[in-house]
Amino acid sequence: MESITEIAADVRHDWTKAEVRHIFDMPLLELIYAAASVHRLYHDPTEIQVCSLLSIKTGGCSEDCGYCSQSVHYDTGVKVQPLLSLDEIMEKARRAKEAGATRFCMGAAWREIRDNKDFDRVLVIVKAVNDLGLEVCATLGMLTESQAKKLKQAGLYAYNHNLDTSEEYYKKIITTRTYKDRLDTIQNTRKADITVCCGGIIGMGESEEDRIAMLMTLANLAPHPESVPINALVPVEGTPLENQPPVSGWEFARMIATARILMPKSMVRLSAGRLQLSQEAQALCFLAGANSIFVGDKLLTTPNPTIDRDEKLFSTLGLKPRKPFQADS
Ligand code: SF4
Repeated sequence: MESITEIAADVRHDWTKAEVRHIFDMPLLELIYAAASVHRLYHDPTEIQVCSLLSIKTGGCSEDCGYCSQSVHYDTGVKVQPLLSLDEIMEKARRAKEAGATRFCMGAAWREIRDNKDFDRVLVIVKAVNDLGLEVCATLGMLTESQAKKLKQAGLYAYNHNLDTSEEYYKKIITTRTYKDRLDTIQNTRKADITVCCGGIIGMGESEEDRIAMLMTLANLAPHPESVPINALVPVEGTPLENQPPVSGWEFARMIATARILMPKSMVRLSAGRLQLSQEAQALCFLAGANSIFVGDKLLTTPNPTIDRDEKLFSTLGLKPRKPFQADS
């Protein structure tokens, strides 16, 4: 096989399982070195995209995602909160911008978008946040092509819809929708010319084969998702996955490095689960090609490092926030 840097020099969408496994199975330090080399072909390694995530409608979701605190199927103590007001959201968006965020992501615990008053309100919210000069991202469940087009018109920059895991393992985590539903929403997002944010979660009891399969599916989407969040499960009491053992920094770094090599131009986000990682493990993930994080002490309903801690980490590592609107350059 050619060297990894040669394999990944071009952006490809025809990865085989054997190739992905070959990369994933490399000795970790070799893998990180290769990923760091690929990273430098397409990105400034001192720049990190800083994103902020706000739950704009919390809990009461009819889906049964086994990891989620907001599903009605599990007793997690999360209180249902209807769609926040425009004023509340704008205040949070302004504060996120002041804190250095360039992307503002809004999550609503809906199975899918319905064409109702709440959706009309979301369109107004998207426009207002876009007017602040932030990249606006939303994660609102499944959507149709016409809903995606309305969001695009309102100024939506990115839509998040994760594949979560491999197609095979998906049924063990969620039974209320299919993998194909996920892929259809991603396609509808693309048809509206909205950038795609799509990744997955590790630590849900999946095998390495599932991790490899998920990465291959992501890497064979054409074009690649502009953002690829790699999350580690944050176990929530009351969910079926509450007792899963934590993901190690090594596993996180291996996933990120493989994602970086397979999707060299994408932003790879070191996403949920960062609080459980040491600063050194986070640094390893940045070296492995992670170039995006969420800041703020809460990710929807689960905890995240505080802004102060992240500022110190950036200063120690000589990292700087990336300017907005460069993801698809
Ligand atoms: S669709 Fe989203 S909000 Fe609903 S249960 Fe699944 S992850 Fe949670």
